[in-house]
This record gives sequence, structure tokens and C-alpha cells, in this order.
Amino acid sequence: MHDLVIDNARLIDGLGTAARDGGLAVKDGRIVAISDDRQGAELGAARTRIDAQGLALAPGIVDLHTHYDAQLTWDSYATPSTALGVTTVVIGNCGFTIAPCRPAHRDLVVRNLTHVEGMSLEAMRAGIQWDFESYPEYLFSLERRGLVPNVASFVGHSSVRTYVLGEDASKRAATDSEIAEMRRLVLDALRAGAIGFATSTLEQHNGENGIPMPSRLADEREMMALTSALGEAGRGVFMLTKGMTSTVPWLESIAAANGRPVMIAAMFVDPGDPTRVFRELGEIEAARSRGRELWAQVGCFPLGMEFTLRHPYPLEAFLAWRPAIVAESEARYRAVLADPSFRAGLKQEIRQPGVPNRFSEKNWDHLTIAEVTRPEHRSLAGKTIGALARERGQHPWDTFLDFGLDGELDAMFDCRLFNIDEDEVCRLLRHPNAAIALSDAGAHLSFLCDAGFGLHLLGHWARERRDLTVEQAVRTVTSAVADAYRIKDRGRLAVGSWADLMLFDPRTVGRGPKRRVNDLPTGASRLDTSAVGLHGVWVNGVRTVDEHGLIGTCGRPGRLLREFAG
Ligand SMILES: [Zn+2]
Repeated sequence: MHDLVIDNARLIDGLGTAARDGGLAVKDGRIVAISDDRQGAELGAARTRIDAQGLALAPGIVDLHTHYDAQLTWDSYATPSTALGVTTVVIGNCGFTIAPCRPAHRDLVVRNLTHVEGMSLEAMRAGIQWDFESYPEYLFSLERRGLVPNVASFVGHSSVRTYVLGEDASKRAATDSEIAEMRRLVLDALRAGAIGFATSTLEQHNGENGIPMPSRLADEREMMALTSALGEAGRGVFMLTKGMTSTVPWLESIAAANGRPVMIAAMFVDPGDPTRVFRELGEIEAARSRGRELWAQVGCFPLGMEFTLRHPYPLEAFLAWRPAIVAESEARYRAVLADPSFRAGLKQEIRQPGVPNRFSEKNWDHLTIAEVTRPEHRSLAGKTIGALARERGQHPWDTFLDFGLDGELDAMFDCRLFNIDEDEVCRLLRHPNAAIALSDAGAHLSFLCDAGFGLHLLGHWARERRDLTVEQAVRTVTSAVADAYRIKDRGRLAVGSWADLMLFDPRTVGRGPKRRVNDLPTGASRLDTSAVGLHGVWVNGVRTVDEHGLIGTCGRPGRLLREFAG
């Protein structure tokens, strides 16, 4: 007797094969039989039988880029990803993990995360269950508490660095003995089940008071030493969120030295330098031709953010913004924003071309005043700063900062930063060395919510734009990314694979509009988006989502993934 049979489905196997009518049977969490209606094969008896009524049955979505490290200690659903068709999440991206962590550093780590990943400080202070110190203890702690989706976890460079260097982690290079100690921790983490080692060299990755995140202080020796642990362990991916100084050839040299895959984030079409991402893809192809496995991590949505001038994350990429970051009071902050020499610095810096992934002059026309605070400004809502500046004959920086200082530090801006030109984005999505991810789910909760990227790919890019077939679209967010990360027996409908499944209607599938909700510990707010056309999700054969959304009584079917294909 099978545990579950789903029949009368349109099977999309996640491998790019043409869809066909059929069904499948599940026993002990794995797919044990697949039927093809043309052959009329019978699947046999089952404890639970579901008539899919012709809907598409596909593998669940694998999300390679999330930041649920803290949230999973209080929310085993990884909200909202589970409700959006995701069955496996990878955490620890960019090297921002919460383990290993000494008790004395907990508050420092949380304050840095608050800043760099836009997480609520109060929610994290109230929510994180600190029942671990080492990285292996953290993995056991997640396992003990239970998980709804499957979870694979990077060991994070910034955490390892803070563990060894303490407060100095954001201040200086490491000594030889500190590097040796960090390398030992990375190796132990890999042996305990980490999926790889993650880091960031991105300039806007700053912690509290604008201090750089620890990984940004690593020098060449440290990077080579820590990534060599992947080679010694013979497993794991090197994941990096790349800043200005990290070139693709340099990343190729790391892959050449340790023989491991490199996942390079975040590859967007940047209006400030629209050809850069394609130049870098060319470098990745060249590296591939020499046998190095480099991947470009790309996103299938325009990267947009909602923000206020009080917490202006997208502006912090400007070096000239720094005086505003370190201003210790509101009065001081306002004085900085009004200072002509501060503005002169910004006006000069925004003209410099070739700065990766930073707000550029082209973005002024995509920076919209979404909500104003003062009633007399109501007529400005819906206008872009670019249009307003032209109306007033001003530099956009002056228009923008003057507006903020005029009682509008809490006005909400909606900013589209990257991936605005969809014909260009389409070239990224179709690239054979691209991995579609970058949801940043679990982070930047007050600015954005792209956790529904997989449903958006199916609805927008496959159905509406027809840039990909539905079979290709499913493959890119299931087996393609699972295989890139050596996640075994997932991301495909195949006999012997785990029954991570998603049932959806290809005629309606997509992600719903953004909305603000207040469900974080202490009632902090976040942006949310709902699923459209999603009829069911199963993790290891257990149903976690039905037609009405999350199933509160689904238990904890997810597994902590510790073993990976070489
Ligand atoms: Zn990230």
C-alpha cells in the first residue's frame, strides 16, 4: 500500500522533458512509481489518493538564496517560502549566519544582521533561540526543532571571522594563526553537513553604524585559505556576493585551486552599466571552457525596494553617504543631509560609471514617492524623483533630500534598481551557466519580498512572455539548481527521488501583489506576497500547502540536508 497517489495530473518532471499526463505514487517520503496514462499503468492502492484534475504536478521549488538562519529558530515554515511552492531553502547566503557564535557576540551578530539584511532587531532579540554555539550545534538545533521545508546551510564567513577575531573582525586583516583557526572551523562545518562556504565582498554589506561586515576585511591569503577547506573536504560550493574588487578571473583562480563550484551573486542587469553582466557571463563561459565550474546567480524579477530616508538601504552603497550612516542623532543626520558638501560628494559619485549594483543616475526615473507623511504633499505621491527634479530645474539629489528634510524622513519610496529591461533579463534567464535564485527570502523584510520568484517565473516569463516553456522554467528552479549545489535526489519527478512536489494551474500560476503584514515576533512588519494558482505542496511526501494555503497541522516533514553528491 502506497502512502500517497496523485493521479490524473499533467506531469512536468523538472528535467525539461515534455509534459505528459500521468500520476505518481509515494511511499516513505520517496517517489516509488510513475505512471503514464498512454500506457494505462495502474499505480495501485494508497492511504491517500488525490485527483489532480489535470493540474500540473512538478517538483517543488529549490530556493538557493535565502536568509532564514535566524527565522528558522522560531518559524519552522520559513514563512512565506513554503506557501509559495518552495520545498528546499538554502540558508547562510553571503556568509551572514548566526553560527558559530559565542554568547558574548550574540548581540553584535544580531545588530549587524539587522543592518545588513534589514531584519527587525526586536524580532530577532525576542525570536532567536540561542541553544547552540558551534556550527554543528546549530545544525542539530534546527533538526531538533523541526523544519517544514528541507534546509541546507552554508557556513558563513562573517560568523566564523567574528567567532575568531571578536570585535576586531570588522576592523583588520587576520593573523596566520587566526586564519588557521577559521579554516579549521570551516572544515568542521563542512564535515558536519554544511553545503559550502559563503562570503560577501559587496560594498553595501555593512553592519551596525556602517562598519563593514567582517568578511569584507579578509585579504587574499585568508580567502585562499578558507576556500581551500572545500578542496580538502572534497565537497561544498563556494558562494560569494561580489563587490567591485572581486573579478570573475579571481574567482576562477579559486575554482582552479580547490576544484569546487563557485556561485557568483548577484548578477543583475544594472541600468548604470547594462553590458557589465554580459561581459561577466562571457568570462564565466571562458572559465567553463577551462574546466572551472562557475555559476552566475541571477534573478527573474526587477529588483525593487521600498524604503524611507530614515533607513535608506539602497543609498548606503555610496561611499559619500557614509557621514549620514555614522550620524548619531536625528538632528545630526538632518544636518548631514542638508550639507552642500555632502551633496556635492553624492552628485560626483553618482556620475562614476562602472560601479556594480549601485543606484545610478538612470534610477531617478524609477524612484517613486509611494506614500507621503504630510497632507500638503499628497499631490507628490506617485511622482518619480527624476520627473520632479526636471519640473523644478534641480539636481535630483537636491529634490530628493530636500523632500525628505521637509518633514518626510518617513515617506515611503518605491525604487526599481535593477533588472528593469525585461528583454535583457530574458538573456540572463536563458543563459546555460545561470542559476535562477536571488530571492533573498528571510531578509530585507521591510523593503522587498521576492520569495515567490519561482511562481513568478512560471506565470510571467513562461506563460505571459513565453520566453521559456513551462518545462524549461520548472527545470531552472528545480533540478538545475539542485544539481548545481549537489543536492541529491531532489528537484525531479523520478522513481527513487524524494517526493517534494508542487501542484499548480499553469493557466493562472503567479505571485500576488505585495502587502504589508505584522506577523514577526513583537509584531514587526514585513512585506508579503501570496501564491496564485498553487493547489498543493508536499515535502518528503507530506502535504504542507493545500488550496487554502499553509496547513497548520502538517508537522515538520522537512529534513536538514547534510549529505551531498560530490
Ligand atoms: Zn543575500
